[in-house]
Amino acid sequence: MTNPYAHEHIAPYLTQEQLSERVSKLAAEISADLQPYESTIFICVLNGSFMFYADLLKHIEGPTNTAFLGVSSYEGGTSTTGAVRLTLDLTIDITGRDVIIVEDIVDTGLTMSYLLESLRSRKPRSLKVCTLLHKPARKKIDVPIDYCGFVIEDVFVVGYGLDFNQRYRDLPYIGVMSFDDEQAS
Ligand code: 5GP
Repeated sequence: MTNPYAHEHIAPYLTQEQLSERVSKLAAEISADLQPYESTIFICVLNGSFMFYADLLKHIEGPTNTAFLGVSSYEGGTSTTGAVRLTLDLTIDITGRDVIIVEDIVDTGLTMSYLLESLRSRKPRSLKVCTLLHKPARKKIDVPIDYCGFVIEDVFVVGYGLDFNQRYRDLPYIGVMSFDDEQAS
C-alpha cells in the first residue's frame, strides 16, 4: 500500500524548547496583569489552541476559570473560507467577567473579529486576546492582540494543535508544511 501523504512535507519551524520557553513567558506576562481576587475566564478556542491552552494555563499564577468555544473557518485545505462558524458555544455566562480569548493563530483576523463581536455582545467586564502565533502578512481586518507568542512569516504551519485536514495536531513542535504538488491548496 502506498503512503497517501507522501507528497506532504513538514520542516521544523518552532522547536518544543522555543515553544515552552515562550509560553511560560507569556503566562508570566498575563499573570502580572490578572485581578488578584477574581478569577479570569480563559476561553480555549477549539480545535487549534488546545495544546497551547493547556501549557499556558499550567503556568498562569492567579485564579482562573476554564471555558471552551469551537469555531471553524477552514473547511480543509490551507486557506480560510472567510465564513466563520460557531461549532461549540460556551457553557458559562461571561457577563461582567474578565475574559481572555486564547487562540492558536491570527491570520486574516476574520475569526478573531467574529469572536470579539460575539463575545462583546455578552457584556464581559474586560475582553483580551492572547494568540500563540500572528501572521500579519495576510491581515484582512485589524484585531487587537494583547498577548502574542510569535509573529511569523506567511507560511502554513502545523503541529502543537494546528492541523492540516485534521492531521498533525499531535506534533509537539510547529513545522511549516509544503507539498510536492499544488493540488492540496
Ligand atoms: P483567520 O480567520 O485569522 O484567517 O484564521 C484563523 C484560523 O485559521 C486559525 O484559528 C486556524 O485554525 C486557521 N489557520 C490560519 N493560519 C493557519 C496556518 O498557518 N496553519 C493552520 N494549521 N491553521 C491556520
